Formats: sequence, structure tokens, C-alpha cells
Amino acid sequence: MQAYTRERRLDSILTVIPIVAIVTVLVGLFGLAFFSDQDYGQHLSLWLVVIGSPLAAYATRRLIQRDRQELGGWVFTITHLLLVTAAYVDFWSLHSHIPYLYAIFIITASLLIGLAASFQTWLLSSIMLLAGLLLSGEFSFANLGAILVPIIINLGLAVVSLLAAIDWQMALESVTELRRRAQDRRDELFEIQETLSLTNAKLRFVNQELDRARQEALRERDLRTRFMNNVSHELRTPLNAVVNFAHILAMGGRGQVTAEQGDYLGRIERSGKHVLDVLNDLLDMAQIESGEFKLYPARVSLHPICEDAMSHVRGLVWDKNVELIRDYPQEWPVIEGDQMRLTQALINLLGNAAKYTDTGHIALRVRPGPVSVVICIEDTGVGIDPQHHELVFQEFRQVDETAARRRMGTGLGLPITRHLIARHGGTIAVQSALGQGSTFTITLPIIPESAPAGVTTA
Ligand code: ADP
Repeated sequence: MQAYTRERRLDSILTVIPIVAIVTVLVGLFGLAFFSDQDYGQHLSLWLVVIGSPLAAYATRRLIQRDRQELGGWVFTITHLLLVTAAYVDFWSLHSHIPYLYAIFIITASLLIGLAASFQTWLLSSIMLLAGLLLSGEFSFANLGAILVPIIINLGLAVVSLLAAIDWQMALESVTELRRRAQDRRDELFEIQETLSLTNAKLRFVNQELDRARQEALRERDLRTRFMNNVSHELRTPLNAVVNFAHILAMGGRGQVTAEQGDYLGRIERSGKHVLDVLNDLLDMAQIESGEFKLYPARVSLHPICEDAMSHVRGLVWDKNVELIRDYPQEWPVIEGDQMRLTQALINLLGNAAKYTDTGHIALRVRPGPVSVVICIEDTGVGIDPQHHELVFQEFRQVDETAARRRMGTGLGLPITRHLIARHGGTIAVQSALGQGSTFTITLPIIPESAPAGVTTA
């Protein structure tokens, strides 16, 4: 940074030197034109000025270029002081203005040489003035008083130029400091840029890896879905045969069966149906996870959906002391939905209610509103601990393993139900406490103003 300050200083000096030299030459030429009166050989001092000033400027420039700045400054200053003194002697008069010209070089000296140089130059100029007075043979104490005026004025100028030079030096230093800070900032920015491009490259790499992993996962998911579809198809066909043949045999389709045989056949049929239900749930879940679960929506009334689900649940509680309550509205709303899947959702909830309720009631309550319908499935069964309310909606979660074992299940019914309801733009929530029954509340959007008139409760 010191080098920078020095460079700026040299720039200024190299600009000032030719300007001062040109002004001096012009003054010399002007003097020649003005005072020579056709005889141009008359005033040798002016010729010295016209020739000496540019020569001194040239020499100074060369010295500065050779890194001898101080010497160059002195050569320039002393030469010009001598030239001014020569002109002073040549044009001697008691109240000559020429000594004031020293001021120019007192000022430039502080710039060319250094801060203290203005005083040294002033001292030199004063000595030369005195010498000039002596050389012109006019020395006397009265005349000494006359040159005291320019000497004092030049001293004042030396002080002023010193102050200006200090200011200038400080300005230069603050510019240098600003430049240093800008450089630092540039370096920091460069570093940040480097880090950024490195991070960018890393991100690109991670992105590529992620993309590869995603493709892999997608491939795997496709494989799994295909596998699930195949397996469930392969299992469902023989299972259906088992269930149907057991039913036919139990009904006496191939001859009378004993009560014991009928009981066995009934168990085969029930177990087969249960395995079919589990298979269906597994297949649904696999499709939900792979994003391939499809709905076939249409405008449907809620009434047949509720009735289908209730008739299904009737078969599940026929041997229990459980009352089935239908709390239906006067007018049924119409919704945009997949009838089969909505029935499945209600069967899941009513099926759970039947599974976990041994006495009391199971109610299906339907409350249509202006934009949505609220469906509550309420039971008086074992209930669910509030801390498990969110858990029961997660796949394969059965909150009480021992109770769940007594009541068969996969832990897929509620997650599938929640997905079905969400796909219809609805929500599902549970209110329950251990031993106090459960209420699952579904809210589904309806098609406004579309309730078909006259469909009433069954
Ligand atoms: P599962 O096939 O085991 O019934 P679900 O996903 O349908 O699976 O239910 C998850 C768990 O939530 C059940 O294991 C049970 O503990 C609890 N649960 C669901 N419905 C009820 C209910 N009506 N009463 C008590 N517990 C219930």
C-alpha cells in the first residue's frame, strides 16, 4: 500500500513538473517580447529562463524515473530559484515583483521533495535574494528593508504550502486506505465466489445422486407393485375357490353334511374371507404407496353407501348384545365420489366398531350441512387411549397387541380409510378414551343444493 501512495505521488509530480516548466517558459517568452524592444540579446536572464526551465524539467523527470526523486526535486527547485535570481539581478529595481516568483517553487518544493522542503526552499530563496541584492551592487540597510517584504510573504506561503501538503498527504493516505479496504473486500468476494462454486458443484453431485436414488426407488416401487398385484391375484383365485366351495358344501350342495362338518366348513369359509380381506388391504396399501391407487368418482347419494356398510356390520354383531342405530337425515346429500371406496371406508370403521364392541350400541349418524356432510361412527366398545389417537392411523399399527390378537386385524384399515377420505377432499378424526367407546368423525364435501328430495331414512 505504501507503494500505491508513492505511485500516486509520482503521478502528481510528473504532471506538475511540465506544467510549471511551461508556465515558466511562457513567462520568459512574454518577458522577452515585452522588455527586449527589438533587441533580443539584451536580457540574457530571460533566455536562461526559456532554455533552463525545460532542461531542468527534463533532468528532473529522468532522475525521478531512475528513482532519485529527492535529487530530481532539488535540481528542479534550485535551477528555478537561480533562474528567478538571475532575472531579479537582470531587472533589478528596489521594489521589483520578481522575488515573489520564488513562491511558486516554495510551493512545488513541498510536493516534489517533502514536507520540510518548503522551508528549506524559502531559506534558499531568501539567501539568493540577498545574493542578488549584493550582485546588483545595491546593497544597503534601506534596500534590505525593501526585500524583507517578499521574504516574509514567501515565509507565509511556505507555512501555507506545508499545511496544504500535510492535507494532501492525509487525503492520499485515506484514499490508499479506502483502496486497501476495497481490495480486501474484493479478495473476500473472490473467496466467497470460490466457496459458492465449490458448494454448487457438490450440490450438483448430490442432486445427481438423489436423482439416481429416486430412479432406483421408482424402479423398486414398480417391481414391488407388480409383485403385489401378481401375488394377490395368484392367492385370490384359489382362495375364492376355497371360500365358495366351502360355502356350497356347507349349504348341502353336494349332499347332507353333519353339524360338525357344517361347523368346520363355516370356519373354512370365515377364515378364507378374512385372508381375502387382508390381501385386499395389502394390495390397496401397496397401490396407495406407489401412487397408483385409482378412484372412479361419480355423483352418488350417501344413502346406499351407508346402507351397504350397515348391512355388512349386521353380520358381524348378530351374536353380540349390540344395538345398531341408524341416525339418518331427512334428506340425503349428494357427493362426488367413488361409491365402492366410500363404502369400503365406512365398512372399515363400522367393522372396527363391531370388532371392539361387545355390548352397548354402534351408531351411524349422518348430519348434512350447506357445504359438507358429517358422518359419525360411534361405538360403546373398548375405546382408544388418547395418546394413541394419531398412532392408529399409521400403517400396521395396532395399539394394544394383546387385544388386537384376540380381534384379528392387520393395522391397515384406518390408514387406508384416511387415505380414501382425503382423496375425496375430506377429513377424519377420532374422539375416544379407554373403556368409553370411540367416535370416528368424517367430514366430506357435498355438491351444494343437490340433495335429492324425498330420499328419507330407511
Ligand atoms: P385393524 O385391522 O387392526 O383393526 P385398523 O387400522 O383398522 O387395524 O385399526 C388400528 C388399531 O386401532 C386397532 O388395532 C385398534 O387397536 C384401534 N381401533 C380402531 N378402531 C377402534 C375402535 N372402534 N375401538 C377401539 N379400538 C379401535
